[in-house]
Amino acid sequence: MASMSQVIKYPFSRDAREASRKLANDIRSLTSLLEDPGNEYIIEEAEYRVLAALDQEEVPLKNISDQKEVLVYPTSRIIVEKIGAPRLREYQAEAESKAVNKHLAGESNEFLMGLAESSFEWKTESTGTISERARLPAAIRRFDFRMRYEDYLEVAPDFHASEWKLVNRAISSGWVLITKSELARLMSGKFKQIIIDSRLEVPTLPARLTEAVQRIESEVSTKIKKTEPIKFTTKVTSAFPPCIAQMHNDSIQGKNLPHEARFALAAFLLRIGMSEEEVLGVFRPAPDFARGLADYQVRHIASKEGGQGYNPPGCRKMQINGICPVEIGEVFDPLCEYVLHPLNFYETRVWEISKNIVNRSWYAAKKKRRQKFR
Ligand code: SF4
Repeated sequence: MASMSQVIKYPFSRDAREASRKLANDIRSLTSLLEDPGNEYIIEEAEYRVLAALDQEEVPLKNISDQKEVLVYPTSRIIVEKIGAPRLREYQAEAESKAVNKHLAGESNEFLMGLAESSFEWKTESTGTISERARLPAAIRRFDFRMRYEDYLEVAPDFHASEWKLVNRAISSGWVLITKSELARLMSGKFKQIIIDSRLEVPTLPARLTEAVQRIESEVSTKIKKTEPIKFTTKVTSAFPPCIAQMHNDSIQGKNLPHEARFALAAFLLRIGMSEEEVLGVFRPAPDFARGLADYQVRHIASKEGGQGYNPPGCRKMQINGICPVEIGEVFDPLCEYVLHPLNFYETRVWEISKNIVNRSWYAAKKKRRQKFR
């Protein structure tokens, strides 16, 4: 059983989730609880927490004065989701994960194993005490734990250093040897993934929380650099060509995509500025999603040409592969007749949306027809 201070330090833990649910069963009960003026301090602490993440500072950990401290983290998540800026979510994930990594360094080996099992269902085992390990070959003596490779692969592919690659690890019968600090890094990395992947349906917020959201929103626009790549927004998805829109919808609705479609979709999304994590999020609902493999594939597609990534296939290739719905006759968009590549479609449609152009008659006057479907 974790102490109250451990519950506060590890918001992803089963104990923290249970403690939080006892006070507020869901997001609506939490927002109504926050309407009570007596609970304003929770909003204040949550606001500090988000601001610290935005300033890339250490997430503050207050002295535990009462059980409601456990609600500070979920309240900070509500603030970030209400603002809806993907970069802010990434900042929060980074700061929260760093804090967890630091706290875990001070915990016992047994606590780490218990937390990994109860929070993520990871199987880990101790490799013995230092004196027991002294009898092992020198190369593997330093490892405190072994963990199942399937669990290891949930997070390790996110780390770029070559030492995290499975081929560079000591592995036996499906167990990967790891040190205590590596287990802490994997656990904090998993927490980061959870924040990046989670989306909350935020209801109407109490006035005090809305004010906190507005204050942070104004900070976001000045503190998150304008030079960040274009991020994935509803406006951007509405500019997808029919081929990408169909693959994207199928994927987020949990349908498996054929290999050619997976490649085309991943390469396209990476090219328009989505992060590798966001692209993985699109593939995650698919029944055949395997985190380690998908990570590898997305990273491989993104890393081509010194980080520029693979070019998504052009219209001709998409048609040969049977994944152009306009060619098949399932849907039609007049712009498809004037492009030879889904990215050209996207650039033109983004421009049209930015200028509020809905009349498509200008294509025939200004553009050269490049393919015909009827
Ligand atoms: S014509 Fe090109 S852009 Fe249009 S749906 Fe087919 S592949 Fe996509």
